Amino acid sequence: MSPAFEKFKAYLDKLNHYSRVINLLSWDMYTTTPKLGFDGMAATDTYFSTEYFALYTSDEFYELVKTLNEPEEYEQLTPGYQFTVRKYKKNLEKDRKIPKDFYERFTAARNESQRAWTEAKNAADFSIFAPHLEKMIEYTKQQLAYTDPGKDVYDTLLGLYEEGMDSTTIDKVFEELKEGLLPLTRKILSAPQPDSSIFKGYYDPDAQKKVEKLLLSYMGFSFDAGVTAESEHPFTDGFSRYDVRVTNHFYEDNPFSSMFSAIHEGGHAIFEQNVDPALTGTAADDCCYMGVHESQSRFYENILGRNRNFWIPIYNKVQELLPELKRFSLDEFIRECNHIQASFIRTEADEVTYCMHILIRYEIEQAIFRDHVPASELPALWNQKYQEYLGITPANDAEGILQDMHWSDGSFGYFPTYLLGSIYDGMFLEALEKDLGSVDDILAAGEIRKITRWLNENIHWYGSLRLPKEVIEKVCQKELSAKPLLNYFEDKYSKIYQL
Ligand SMILES: [Zn+2]
Repeated sequence: MSPAFEKFKAYLDKLNHYSRVINLLSWDMYTTTPKLGFDGMAATDTYFSTEYFALYTSDEFYELVKTLNEPEEYEQLTPGYQFTVRKYKKNLEKDRKIPKDFYERFTAARNESQRAWTEAKNAADFSIFAPHLEKMIEYTKQQLAYTDPGKDVYDTLLGLYEEGMDSTTIDKVFEELKEGLLPLTRKILSAPQPDSSIFKGYYDPDAQKKVEKLLLSYMGFSFDAGVTAESEHPFTDGFSRYDVRVTNHFYEDNPFSSMFSAIHEGGHAIFEQNVDPALTGTAADDCCYMGVHESQSRFYENILGRNRNFWIPIYNKVQELLPELKRFSLDEFIRECNHIQASFIRTEADEVTYCMHILIRYEIEQAIFRDHVPASELPALWNQKYQEYLGITPANDAEGILQDMHWSDGSFGYFPTYLLGSIYDGMFLEALEKDLGSVDDILAAGEIRKITRWLNENIHWYGSLRLPKEVIEKVCQKELSAKPLLNYFEDKYSKIYQL
């Protein structure tokens, strides 16, 4: 171990301790902290975050990171530490170009913007949020002018969440998807639909919690390295591969929501629990590419969880744990899991129309950053696109442009990663079936763990070491394409809707 690496390692350990405390505080705030205790926790969070930031941006740490990027030092490092020093150098070089007073103004504006968004959403009134959104757009452009001068703003934003992806690549696959999916969606939506109202009723939340545990174990989630809790919105929080936590929300009148959230978050968690232990403590020990991460949660949620055969080995057990489901046959149950409908809210959408919700947001983000459409004109654009793609117009902005929080804190360029995740899934499904045979058969035989193992070995093990494009290349040996996802949709829904 070189002296520089020894010093760096001491810094990194300290940073990891701080970030664990920060994570733990945030986990507690979203799961356990009572309303009146929130401000106290938030103050402690700010304290530790500030300490962390000072340590991370210190000159001494930056010098160490630069030294370790020198060839003679770099070559001695393990792949996990090579990734870490490379990533920190790149990020620190950018962060250090942002003037401190600008950073503070942006942070303050972001807090105000989030508050205004909440108020606007509650009042279903976009005009409250419009000036703040305009500010978020302006500040985002300014920040990128410091960090990435001369580069295309929207491409840079996309790269923040899915490194190596740009709008040329994304345009191509999204266009390909849109061309096939629009006519398919129209056909499905005009076909006879199942009757969802038979599922009206009460579903005991405590029983739903037992179902959640059953589903997680079934998929391969390790309870020795993971726990569950409740929160307003489901999320996954990984401390290391040995401690990955998932949350869920249980609705008395809806048994599907918590089951599919469990499967979705379980997919994120299984990813983190199966990263190569040699990467623990490095920056590569979880996946920092949002599209790749999302591809795993969606693979479980949609490709596996919405497959009839996923439920064959466990539907009886699910009914025992949640007796209200005894009224429904497996066929009725699975039919509702694959009910395609035009709806306003992205997070509640089925796997097919979900793609439209993302295409719309992607096109609007391009309108903002490429065509400079002002914030005030966005609700009209939003409504026009919902009419065009899904044939519906929101009654108000709360169920329209104000529904997601992403733009309120300046997370432009994040939405496309959700759809990239699904497009990757189409390709992973093809590759997996080439290796293991039909997913339908594996699931029907109760061997879902075989699929989990394949995902562990081919994707999860590498954490952040492989860029999204490399993951696709290595696993699928093909160029990125929306065709496999389209084929999956066409096969599946032509049968279900008898098209
Ligand atoms: Zn997710």
